[in-house]
Amino acid sequence: MSTNSPEVAILVYQAAKKRSEDESFDGLGNLGVEVIADVLRRSGIEVGYCSPESAREHQVVLVSMTSTYDLLALTQAVGRMPSWKAERRPFRVVAGGAGMQNPTVVRHLVDYAAFGRSEFFAVDLVQAALDRQPFVHPSVMNLPDITPVTLGQSELYPHAINGRAEGFMGCKRKCKFCHYSWARQYRGPAGDYVQTSVSTSSPEITWDRLRGIDHKHGRIRTALDGFSARLRRCYGKNITGHDVVEGLERVGSFGGTSTVLAYNISNMPTENQADKDELYGTFASAQPRGRVIVVLQSTPFRPSNLTPMQWEPVRLMPSMSELSAQVIVDRPNLRAMHSFSNEGPWSHLVTVVAERATPGTDKLWEAICFAPKLQSNPSADKVRRVSTHFDLAPYLRKYDIDEPHPADFLTSFTPRARLREIARDMRRRADG
Ligand code: SF4
Repeated sequence: MSTNSPEVAILVYQAAKKRSEDESFDGLGNLGVEVIADVLRRSGIEVGYCSPESAREHQVVLVSMTSTYDLLALTQAVGRMPSWKAERRPFRVVAGGAGMQNPTVVRHLVDYAAFGRSEFFAVDLVQAALDRQPFVHPSVMNLPDITPVTLGQSELYPHAINGRAEGFMGCKRKCKFCHYSWARQYRGPAGDYVQTSVSTSSPEITWDRLRGIDHKHGRIRTALDGFSARLRRCYGKNITGHDVVEGLERVGSFGGTSTVLAYNISNMPTENQADKDELYGTFASAQPRGRVIVVLQSTPFRPSNLTPMQWEPVRLMPSMSELSAQVIVDRPNLRAMHSFSNEGPWSHLVTVVAERATPGTDKLWEAICFAPKLQSNPSADKVRRVSTHFDLAPYLRKYDIDEPHPADFLTSFTPRARLREIARDMRRRADG
C-alpha cells in the first residue's frame, strides 16, 4: 500500500451508458458524491479518487450509484478482478446514491449499502468501514445480507458545492411512477414545485407552466409522461390534449424558432396504439405562430421500487428505439419527431432485472454482465437469446399488490400500506 494515498477514495469507473460528453466527475456534476466527500473532509477525513485497479491502495472505497445502470457498470468494471473478490478484498466498499435501491446483484462487491440521503451518518459509516466493523443503522445494509432498510431523509445540504447550493429536493407532485418523489421527502421553497428557474438558457419546467412563459426560449425542456390524457391522468400528470396544444402555441407565440424537448414515458401498463395516435393527432392540431420543433424523448416505463407502480408489469415491446428519429408532424410552423436515441429493450430489461433481483438472479446477472454474445448483438436479439435460457417472468410480470415483492426489504417515508392503497385505486381506474 502507498503511504501517500488517502485512506478513503471515491471510485471512478466507466458508466454503462454515456451521460455526458465529459465523463469526468466534474463533467457529470455528480453532486451527491461531492456532498459526501465534503462532509468527510469537514470532519478531517481526507478523500481522494481511485480506479478499480488502484482501489487496493486505500482502506475504504466509496462508490456512487447515480442510477440502476451503475449496478451493471460496477459489476462489469470490477466483478472479475481478483482484488475485488469478497474473500480477498483488502479494502472496504461503501456504496450509495439514487441508484441504490436493490443491492442484491452487487452484494459480493460492496460491504455497506447506504440508502437515501446519507450525509448525516456518512462520517460514522466510513469510520466503521475503516475499523472493519459492521455499521448498525436503519438506512444501511451490511452486505452480503439483504436486510430491511428505510431510505434516509435529510434537510437541504447547507454548504455550496462547486459554487452550487442545493435549492430543493423531492417533488410534491407524486406522479405514480416517480421513484424520486416517493423516495425523497420534499424540501425547498414553500409553494409549488418548479424544477429550475425559467430564466436559464434551457429551462426545465412542468408542462402546465408552459402557458405562463412570458418571453421566447430557444430551447425548453418539459415532460408529458404518457401518450394520452387517459394514461397521464391514471399514472402521472393530469395534462389534457388541450393543455398540450396550449403549451406548444404559447412557446411559439414569440416568433422565430423554439425547440421543446418533451420527456415521455412509453410502454405504460394498458398503453395501446390508440394512446400513441392520440398524441400524434394532438401535436398535429397545434398551430403556433412561430416555428416550434418538438423532440419526443420516450423512456420505457419501469415499475420503480417504493412507488405505487412497483407491482405493475414491464412491457419490453414494442421497442421505442425502432421509432427513433421518425417524424410525427412536419409543417412550416411545427415539426414533431421522436428523439434520435430512444432506449431499446435490452437496457430496459437489464435495469428491471437489477431492481427486482433476488439471490436467484445471480446466474442471469452473470450472463448479462459477461456472456460474450450478450455484449454486442442488437438489443432485441439479446432479449430473445437470454429469454431462451432464463425465466424472465419474475422481472417482467404483474405482481398482486398483497403478495411478496422482491424489494419488500425497502421502505421510505411513505408507509407501504399507503403505497398499496394508492396502487389498488390506480389499478381500479386503469381497468375501468
Ligand atoms: S415525474 Fe412527477 S413527481 Fe417526478 S419529479 Fe416530475 S413532476 Fe415530480
